[in-house]
Amino acid sequence: MSVWAIVVAGGSGARFGGPKQYAPLAGRRVLDWSLDAARAHADGVVLVVPAEALDQAEPGADVVVAGGATRSASVRAGLAAVPGDATVVVVHDAARPLASPALFATVIDAVRDGAAGALPGVPVIDTIRHRDGGVIDRDPLVRVQTPQAFSAELLRRAHAAEPEATDDAALVEALGARVVVVEGEPTNDKITDPADLATARAQLTGGRTMQMQMRIGQGFDVHRFSDDPDRPLVLGGVRFDGAAGLAGHSDADAIAHAVTDALLGAAGLGDIGQLFPDTDPDLAGADSMVLLAEAVRQVRAAGWRAGNVDCTVVLEAPKLAPRKAEIQDRLSAVVGAPVTVKGKRAEQLGSLGRREGIACFAVAILFEADHPGVDPAAP
Ligand code: MG
Repeated sequence: MSVWAIVVAGGSGARFGGPKQYAPLAGRRVLDWSLDAARAHADGVVLVVPAEALDQAEPGADVVVAGGATRSASVRAGLAAVPGDATVVVVHDAARPLASPALFATVIDAVRDGAAGALPGVPVIDTIRHRDGGVIDRDPLVRVQTPQAFSAELLRRAHAAEPEATDDAALVEALGARVVVVEGEPTNDKITDPADLATARAQLTGGRTMQMQMRIGQGFDVHRFSDDPDRPLVLGGVRFDGAAGLAGHSDADAIAHAVTDALLGAAGLGDIGQLFPDTDPDLAGADSMVLLAEAVRQVRAAGWRAGNVDCTVVLEAPKLAPRKAEIQDRLSAVVGAPVTVKGKRAEQLGSLGRREGIACFAVAILFEADHPGVDPAAP
């Protein structure tokens, strides 16, 4: 008996404010949890996604198809991709990431044992009443969840006339077939608004602190003073009027360059020379804070966020202290995390001590951007 699962993730998340199936949840996406649970007891999984997400790789699914305008249309799109020899089809909403593999097994087994369909239901705990008076007896009522399993033949027949329902069980019942209710899972709630993600995260992590991945990076840069008396000195995006400028292809901002390298190194993204070659004529006189901002963007795109960056600037002159707060504020704003800067003299030792140039050392720490302990809404 071949069992196929259809994971429906075609919604636009109008109430949620975006496609909730792609929201980060405990280090993965909502739909990854649903795909894993579906796969545990199925021979194959069809994932139904919004049309615009069709070219995105989904290693958790065997087949990826575009959804339709309604939930029923999306189920039909998934059903069309289920192989003809499948005997049981289990339909699951991606927005229920907490459904356990055991729940899939329970509904599938019920159909294998002869039921036309099986769905999980949980008791209604609240009193239910009519708006205009009169309490409804809640004992015969259940709240309906997914996964719902069906005889593949019946589910295909139920969808043949392209009907609409919020639930496949109603369509199968409309054929006169009986759908059984198995015991649902109280935690198997649908993610409907962003607050539900926090509840789901607490369930998945059991309130435990999960080990957060972190990476450390180091950066160094040195520039000699320029012979050009008109060249400005720029350090950490701050201009020092009247001070001798540094020589370089860009604005020669040694602090911004060291911070950029520390961040790129931590993320394993190479170095500033690879990203912004000093042979690129477009980068002549470039504002290094703009280059730093681009590096920060790439670090974030790679799944990291900066914890903090600390810099030591080795220079005899000018004095850094009066501009230190300004430099730190500018760098922190671009990096999106605290950046601290310390000035250090070279005590007349070596080239830096002879006032031939300025050097900067930086260390940066990065954290996993989607760690379960991290609020995805935080900057
Ligand atoms: Mg440099």
